[in-house]
Amino acid sequence: MKNIKSFSKSLISWYRKNRRDLPWRKTSDSYKIWISEIMLQQTTVSAVVPYYKEWVKKFPTMRSVASAPLQKILKQWQGLGYYQRARNIHKAAKIILKSHQGKIPCHAEDLLKLPGFGPYTTGAVLSIVFGVRYPIIDANVRRVIMRQLALEGYADTSNDKEILEFLEKMMPQKDMNLFNQGLMELGALICRTDNARCNMCPFRKICRAYQKGMQEIIPESKKRIVHKINAVVGVIRNRNTFFIQKRGSKGLLADLWEFPGGKIEDGETPKKALSRELKEELGVSLISARRMMNVKHLYTKFDVNLHVWDCKVKPLPKIDKTHRWDRLNNMHSYPMPSGSSKILDYIVKQEKA
Ligand code: SF4
Repeated sequence: MKNIKSFSKSLISWYRKNRRDLPWRKTSDSYKIWISEIMLQQTTVSAVVPYYKEWVKKFPTMRSVASAPLQKILKQWQGLGYYQRARNIHKAAKIILKSHQGKIPCHAEDLLKLPGFGPYTTGAVLSIVFGVRYPIIDANVRRVIMRQLALEGYADTSNDKEILEFLEKMMPQKDMNLFNQGLMELGALICRTDNARCNMCPFRKICRAYQKGMQEIIPESKKRIVHKINAVVGVIRNRNTFFIQKRGSKGLLADLWEFPGGKIEDGETPKKALSRELKEELGVSLISARRMMNVKHLYTKFDVNLHVWDCKVKPLPKIDKTHRWDRLNNMHSYPMPSGSSKILDYIVKQEKA
């Protein structure tokens, strides 16, 4: 790169003119910027905007998050996925309140000790909130720099050493917030995964991938392996109440509430699987079952097809800390995975019809 200064200058000036008007860009509140950065991980900007607005209404301060029960936090997060992010926000808020007087620390070594603060979140908070000269690499930044340098390979961490060296050279002494946000915005709007808009890019004269006509093949795309899962779900009613259970506190979708059920094993019919699961999970016998609906939901690594049955069982399952009977109009207060949430919406509609 002939002129190191001109790279950051061009980027910052492009960003000033082209940045999107987003709610978290209108605040200097470190708590709110942190929340937006966590929400934006693995989630698109358009999906995050309504969640962010609702979140800051419900939890306007660090203290309000730290003092809320986890179930309320998970409920507010429902639909955003990767629930570990919400659990980490809750844990980190408690630590920040207790050990940092409620203020997000401004040193990397303190931030990196907080739950959910990896190199990306740490860099984002340090640069965007405090203007610290600190690099960040997310999927957008990685793609932009891989193309700038014509680094071949997948968009994983294998090229991060070269990317970091490049960023170290290019980062300005001031306006680090604009530099890092500019790189991410350029990746989101111009240097896109498909159909890069090179004709609108401020770097097309120096971009090695563009010069070599390689922008469409850098980075190389990996086929995502998605596992198909067939599962059964039993909707059990007792007069005007429905039975739900809480998932364990570890693993996928931990601590969320759902209708009971489980995976269909090889060679099993959905009804047989339902009968087995209800026996194993709740110790009850299936008396009758009527097909209700099928729910399909695509998680990151799983394509789930839920076969949902309206069931009668004997005896009725008992309640304890993780098993409940509740009325339909209370059900929306429970944090639920998308599959159970869709089933609940369907039942509510049916009951109103
Ligand atoms: S010229 Fe094209 S490939 Fe290179 S950084 Fe710009 S948009 Fe990306």
